[in-house]
Formats: sequence, C-alpha cells, structure tokens
Amino acid sequence: MKYCPRCKSPMELNIEKSVSSDGTVKVLYFYRCKACGYRLEDAVLLMKKGDGGYEVKAVEYLD
Ligand SMILES: [Zn+2]
Repeated sequence: MKYCPRCKSPMELNIEKSVSSDGTVKVLYFYRCKACGYRLEDAVLLMKKGDGGYEVKAVEYLD
C-alpha cells in the first residue's frame, strides 16, 4: 500500500491507456489519492504492434 505524501491517505493504483498515431500503445500506471486528488506517476509501458501481436518496447519507472 502506498500512502499520499501530502495527506497520508492510502492511494489507489490507476491505469491509463492511450494509443498514438503509429499504433504504439502507452500504458501509464499512476497512484491517485482519493482524499486530496494528489497524483503520483509510477511507470510507463510502451507496446508496439508487431507480427505476433503486441511487443513491450520499454518500461520506464518514475520516482
Ligand atoms: Zn492525499
């Protein structure tokens, strides 16, 4: 469990997906505080469409 650095409430993990024009899927993992709305980005995953489906291109961890 992660706690909000601002108000110390438990944070909720959210996933946001977006697709760019070249078909690359970007998945953003972030924590959001339900009490104060503080948002903390955790990781970004990039997936590119290939012959055999989606391929994970990069995972970036944000601190
Ligand atoms: Zn908070």
